[in-house]
Amino acid sequence: LSDLRISPPPPLDPAKKEKLLKQYEEHTAGKDVISLIVIGHVDSGKSTLMGHLLYQMGHVSDKQLHKFKQDSQKIGKSSFAYAWVLDETEEERSRGITIDVAQTKFETEKKIIYLLDAPGHKDFIPNMITGATQADSAILVINSITGEFETGFLLGGQTREHSLLVKSLGINQLIIAVNKMDMNEWSQERFLDIHKKLSSFLIKQVGYKEADLMFVPCSGLQGENLTKKCTNEKLTSWYNENSSFNSQSIIGGSTLLDCMNRLKPQERSIDKPFRFCVSDVYKSAQTANISISGKCEAGSLKTGDKILIVPSNENGVVKSIATNDEQSLQMCFAGDTVTLNVANVDINNISIGNFGCDLISPPMPVSDRIRARVILFNLEIPMTNGFPVVFHYKSLNEAAVVKKLVSLLDKSSGEVVKEKPRVLNNGQSAIVEIKINRPICVELYQNYRELGRFMLRYNGVTIAAGQITEIIVKNKN
Ligand code: GDP
Repeated sequence: LSDLRISPPPPLDPAKKEKLLKQYEEHTAGKDVISLIVIGHVDSGKSTLMGHLLYQMGHVSDKQLHKFKQDSQKIGKSSFAYAWVLDETEEERSRGITIDVAQTKFETEKKIIYLLDAPGHKDFIPNMITGATQADSAILVINSITGEFETGFLLGGQTREHSLLVKSLGINQLIIAVNKMDMNEWSQERFLDIHKKLSSFLIKQVGYKEADLMFVPCSGLQGENLTKKCTNEKLTSWYNENSSFNSQSIIGGSTLLDCMNRLKPQERSIDKPFRFCVSDVYKSAQTANISISGKCEAGSLKTGDKILIVPSNENGVVKSIATNDEQSLQMCFAGDTVTLNVANVDINNISIGNFGCDLISPPMPVSDRIRARVILFNLEIPMTNGFPVVFHYKSLNEAAVVKKLVSLLDKSSGEVVKEKPRVLNNGQSAIVEIKINRPICVELYQNYRELGRFMLRYNGVTIAAGQITEIIVKNKN
């Protein structure tokens, strides 16, 4: 075995890049595309907040909401009506085409937002971690009720764990929704106290920059300060366009939606070589072609282009491209979930977890051995050399083994604290070497942010999330 360097993707010719970016701008109507994940302690109000936001954005009809209200009253939990909005979309989604992470799409004035794995109130945490491996930004929901913030934050709650996790996965912007403000009379003192404690933690211990944090007071239940300016004087008296704060992470008068619109555009791998992760393959009903569903993770593709499937090296021609709601497209770009109709390929050589590439640039690396920076959670027994795991990468789940504990890292600076640690424990960050059961397609985090992240599970529990830092490929000589 030898450790060959995986070279960064070749840059695109400037004229071609300009043309491509223009086509992409038309494709997205000039809006930024952002994938968002919602995190926070259980009961902080994540589902209610996002449900109410989707309702105000016109995503849920009054009739549907009326039904949720009746249903939730029946079981004596009327406050859950908005949380059910998300469960309903989940149900709808499960009838559709398989996609690795479910998403709810909505558009604002400036953005197209994909809400990844919208938080249903049942089984949110494992979903959250899956979503976090694909998100650009996060909304951290805080329960501002006296005593509750303290439970979620100080006393071993999920606020700390989640924020470390998302940061370690490369999510660099955070909106902090200080929720349930209706329960403490929209108190300025309470809001500023939470801001002070939390921003100090997020900056000093997690490694966020102040400029990448936005704090916003709101009430998910009352729907206050989500998409419309708050009218409650208790809030507007101290939180308005003219109020100034000691920190750039509070912008007076902003709603949650304003904060979303203010998220900085994400760098997209539009101009990099094409990478398409296969999540389903089947014979086309109308033609002799093969339908390949999945997500375009990088680059772009147009009808008539050739496609190479790795690792089998099967190649064919793309006859048409369709969205999940069966709209036909001339082109697809990084970020799109689509179905390709491909001619001249053998279905037996294509399976879930394979990748489609172009035939021009170097194909995607294939390997069964990687090194990665990981952060550990929920471990019941410490991790040692030879620890068995399931490697979750995009639409793949493969048996794998943690072969070597390479080094223990400082969680925020990433510096090596100890070489070759004997064991790793919960909350620690480390470099490890992982041997996967069989060779799969992978990319380095530094080359493709979208393709360099994964998760490890053990006994059905997510125990780590990581970034691929090295791909060890067999030397062909
Ligand atoms: P999750 O576990 O974070 O998804 O939290 P839920 O959305 O299920 O909400 C937990 C509980 O908090 C429910 O009883 C909600 O009705 C309540 N809740 C959520 N948001 C608010 C809010 O803004 N104000 C008040 N007073 N209660 C809220």
